[in-house]
Amino acid sequence: MIQTESFLSEEKRLKSLQTFKDDHGIIRLKTKIIYRKDSEDFLKPIVLPLKYEVVKHLIYNAHIKNCHAGVQILLNVLRGKYWILNGRKAMKHVVANCVICKRYTSQNLEITSLPLPENTVKDAAVFQINGVDMAGHLFLKENNKSWVLIFTYTVYRAVHFELVTAALIDVYLMAFRRLVARRGRCATVYCDNGTNFVGAANY
Ligand SMILES: [Zn+2]
Repeated sequence: MIQTESFLSEEKRLKSLQTFKDDHGIIRLKTKIIYRKDSEDFLKPIVLPLKYEVVKHLIYNAHIKNCHAGVQILLNVLRGKYWILNGRKAMKHVVANCVICKRYTSQNLEITSLPLPENTVKDAAVFQINGVDMAGHLFLKENNKSWVLIFTYTVYRAVHFELVTAALIDVYLMAFRRLVARRGRCATVYCDNGTNFVGAANY
């Protein structure tokens, strides 16, 4: 069906090839190796046009069956039965669009690491610059919720923990007050957009 549909309009292309119709009306190619003892399909392969979905599936199927073979192997395998016009182009297309092949041949993305920000490398007092985040919640013995405020100091990587029993602004401010009383007042505090941090910053 594909042959009649395609080669009626493209008879010119077939003329450059030596073809004939077999007993079943299938167009086959006359190759130069008819004196070899081999299968009919190998000696006189079936001519197939490229632009049909069936042909593409045929190629893809051969690609999968042969453990994701490359273009040259595919050409050899399919040549045993079919003569696909512009075959190399089609097989290149199939191999290039195979997702599994793409995964295996893709290269890792290279990222040049950025320099560290000034506040982590400059000379500073141990407890001068810190970042804060909240861990939790955890449960205490009486099933009360609690959180841990984690202060990490950027230059010397020292840490300070404060246990709090609510994620509220005034509770955070009290914990922060305890931190300052113990370690000294810090110049810079980094935090995320947690409501109690933002609220405290606004306060
Ligand atoms: Zn593949």
